[in-house]
Amino acid sequence: MQTHSSIALLGLCSDENSSFQRGAAQAPPLIREALLTDASNMWTETGVNLGELQEKNLFIDVGDIAPTPGDDFFDQIQTTIHRLLAKQSSPISLGGDHAITFPILQGFARHFPELTILHIDAHPDLYDELGGNRLSHACPFARIMEAGLAKRLIQVGIRTLNQHQREQAARFGVEIHEMKNWHPGLKLHFDTPVYVSIDLDGLDPAFAPGVSHREPGGLSTREVIHLIHSIPTRLIGADVVEYNPRCDFQGMTATVAAKLVKELVGQIFCSEFKL
Ligand code: MN
Ligand code: MN
Repeated sequence: MQTHSSIALLGLCSDENSSFQRGAAQAPPLIREALLTDASNMWTETGVNLGELQEKNLFIDVGDIAPTPGDDFFDQIQTTIHRLLAKQSSPISLGGDHAITFPILQGFARHFPELTILHIDAHPDLYDELGGNRLSHACPFARIMEAGLAKRLIQVGIRTLNQHQREQAARFGVEIHEMKNWHPGLKLHFDTPVYVSIDLDGLDPAFAPGVSHREPGGLSTREVIHLIHSIPTRLIGADVVEYNPRCDFQGMTATVAAKLVKELVGQIFCSEFKL
């Protein structure tokens, strides 16, 4: 049985809610370019050929959207996600800074009231506000949990907790797997459809230097791929955020982002398309 009609790649070119430096708005075309480069083939490690999915219109590129003066960009994101899901299309969004995950989840919650978020990040992004901005890229998971947009929030890679964010995590019942306790056999338990949000600074800067907030001591590319492959339930969508090309070396981090997007497409395909 086919439950979905396609997987849609959507670029969200916004870094206006970044607290430290801009640049993430330029990421989507560069990740797309790294995904389509002839330097690599289009097969996932799990045996899915993205080239074939493209030919069959099962993997489609719906382009980029960017903030325009006078329009509410968050509203535009929510509406775009809702429309894709209404057409049984599973969105994979390319950031942009992490602020975009709140409106993305507003769109998802209209279709999936009981989802579990797997959030990979150096930072818990649970601030009530940062610099007076409640929509900062440091706050999206506080907004998501306050609004009841997810049943569970599981965070992996976290290594920047302060007292305020510990309190916020306790308040929202966030399941945090701190990086200091990381071990390769970590087993995560899922019982509802899963949405994956990958902030590239969850990886160690040795693997992904092209981020605004480098935090040493993080996950390897292999460990993040393994987490994606280990999701046993439905994977219904994802985002890959915070690539900042201004901080990158020779497009290294774009290549990592593209690799993660490729494996996410394969994992969604395997879980949603029972062909
Ligand atoms: Mn982060
Ligand atoms: Mn983040």
